[in-house]
Amino acid sequence: MIDFNLPDHVAQQVAMAQMVAEHVMRPKSRFYDESEHDIPWEFVYTMWPQMADQARRDLDAALKPKETNGSSGNGAKRPRTTNLRMIHLIEALSWGDAGMYLTMPSSQLAGAAIQAVGTPEQKERFLRRFTGDTPTWGAMCMTEPQAGSDTSAIRTTAIKDGDEWVLNGTKIFVTSGHKALKDSNGIIVVWATVDPKAGRAGMKPFVVEAGTPGVEILKLEHKLGIRASDTAMIVFDNARIPADHILGNPTVLNSKDHPEGFKGAMKTFDATRPIVAASALGIARAAIDYTKDILKREEGIEIRYNVPRHKLTAAERDVIDMEAMHRAAWLLTMKAAWMMDQGLPNTLESSECKVKAGEAVTKITQKAVETLGPIGYSRDHLVEKWMRDAKINDIFEGTGQINRLVIARRILGYTSKELR
Ligand SMILES: Cc1cc2nc3c(=O)[nH]c(=O)nc-3n(C[C@H](O)[C@H](O)[C@H](O)COP(=O)(O)OP(=O)(O)OC[C@H]3O[C@@H](n4cnc5c(N)ncnc54)[C@H](O)[C@@H]3O)c2cc1C
Repeated sequence: MIDFNLPDHVAQQVAMAQMVAEHVMRPKSRFYDESEHDIPWEFVYTMWPQMADQARRDLDAALKPKETNGSSGNGAKRPRTTNLRMIHLIEALSWGDAGMYLTMPSSQLAGAAIQAVGTPEQKERFLRRFTGDTPTWGAMCMTEPQAGSDTSAIRTTAIKDGDEWVLNGTKIFVTSGHKALKDSNGIIVVWATVDPKAGRAGMKPFVVEAGTPGVEILKLEHKLGIRASDTAMIVFDNARIPADHILGNPTVLNSKDHPEGFKGAMKTFDATRPIVAASALGIARAAIDYTKDILKREEGIEIRYNVPRHKLTAAERDVIDMEAMHRAAWLLTMKAAWMMDQGLPNTLESSECKVKAGEAVTKITQKAVETLGPIGYSRDHLVEKWMRDAKINDIFEGTGQINRLVIARRILGYTSKELR
């Protein structure tokens, strides 16, 4: 039976994250938005011990033989809550500040790719470094100047040369790329083709360590929102990495419409889309909370939930609509995360929650600015910032349009060639 309840110890972690959001992130939110790319060290050091500890537990659990995984000791199976916990934590931290949340030291998208595609030995080798004493970052590079939504168009190549792979190409819009490469222990996962003629089947992920010669950051983007988060352009010029840094199976397999290389990328997105949705909904909740608070303090308007809709003021109806949009998207997000915890395929649900949350946060934050008028538009308050931070959730990890295509294909039974 579907169950979204969190065990007590997880609920406590979420309550802690909400406190960090309120007391560590919020007071610095405007500063890091304006200073752009400065690392919020107070937040990083507050979060790291907890992140490292959790990364250690998650890795140990992932590497345990299947039959013992999740046992409570008395033979009863303990429900897995890794993904439910994750979305609750991210929702709470993004309520604090979505840009700062993205600076949180962790394996980030690199970790999702390694978990999705790596062998147990590779998980141990590459993810153990995120459990140490020093804050460490990971990042993932898929997007290229000519390959965004159409990931099969990537041109970065990986050519085998003896005991090494040689990478050449350009990656753009890499979240935390700068932190991962400047941090001596950091890693990035780079998607490249080992056989350009094989199309999607030739796509493979490679782990590149910070300090690898031939890897250079060309620029950092100046952005509309999530400005605390660094977004890098990275060039690979004959960058040599060890042969065993290719994740998973090095052979190019192509079963008609389900090439193995591309499936690895999609499996990564199945895991990360609910996370993006959760971040979006944290921003949306911040905007709703603030709108209600200001309406109450400045206008004396308290939302009356027990009054028929036609008797409500326009402002009350707007707030209730914002909350309904938020709730619907949050339920979809919890379902997608819960399915992952159950080991169920969640491609459809993952895209559904991403679409709904991306749309909800965009509409909710715009409505908050509109409802609050000058307070919404002024830089003395954070509402205008939340509106700017919102939009990215409808762009990265697959745009709204691309996720709608994924949903349509799943529901109607079309392949990506038949419906594009
Ligand atoms: C701040 C930021 C951080 C990012 N972080 C990362 C990261 O860490 N790693 C990474 O690899 N990438 C990252 N990205 C890249 C992001 O995933 C891409 O921007 C996104 O996938 C869209 O690709 P594109 O920008 O090339 O747009 P395009 O693919 O050129 O799309 C342009 C528009 O056309 C629409 N469109 C395209 N194809 C179709 C279609 N078939 N049907 C209908 N509409 C379509 C799109 O929805 C979009 O609206 C980041 C981007 C940003 C802005």
